[in-house]
Amino acid sequence: MPGEKKTKTVKTIKVDVDKCNGCRACEMICSAFHAAPKYSGNNPERSRIRVIREPLRDLYVPVYAGDYTAAECAGRDKYTIDGKEYDECAFCRASCPSRDIFKEPDSGLPLKCDMCEGEEEPLCVKWCLVDALTYVEREEEVEEEEDDLGEMEMGLEALANKYGLNKIMDTVARMSVSSKGLDVKAKEED
Ligand code: SF4
Ligand code: SF4
Repeated sequence: MPGEKKTKTVKTIKVDVDKCNGCRACEMICSAFHAAPKYSGNNPERSRIRVIREPLRDLYVPVYAGDYTAAECAGRDKYTIDGKEYDECAFCRASCPSRDIFKEPDSGLPLKCDMCEGEEEPLCVKWCLVDALTYVEREEEVEEEEDDLGEMEMGLEALANKYGLNKIMDTVARMSVSSKGLDVKAKEED
């Protein structure tokens, strides 16, 4: 029924910047968990959590990846911490067209934290030995189910932004022709 209230579970990671020591264990375990096959490698570039590190100031800020956004922000925030001014996008959680963070390095596809789906608790939280990360779950009332884009749609949107829709369509058409060719060849060989 339209307007009907529903509840949804909001999963978040609370970050205590004062406790983080910049060890990057969270980046390592996140990228290893999401490697294919699982745990076959660890590359922080593929991690869904990144740590902004300023060792000389003893400042470390873990940021985990949020939703992909196709449009760059029109307005941006400046942060000054201990007299140092940080890049306008430094602490942003979004994967977006204006920077490379939270993007799969080979394909450019957006990366988003999935709270380590299938695990009892997020692995970055588990591996953070100083408790800088805490997993928090809460119920929120919403008007109706949000129409979230599926992962495939998000990926296609990002590819279309990077290469242009026509190029993507041409590539799909080429792939479909070449896979038909393979089908015919396989049938001939049967
Ligand atoms: S594992 Fe914890 S202490 Fe280490 S960088 Fe990540 S958040 Fe900071
Ligand atoms: S919850 Fe899982 S997917 Fe999200 S940043 Fe932590 S390790 Fe990565």
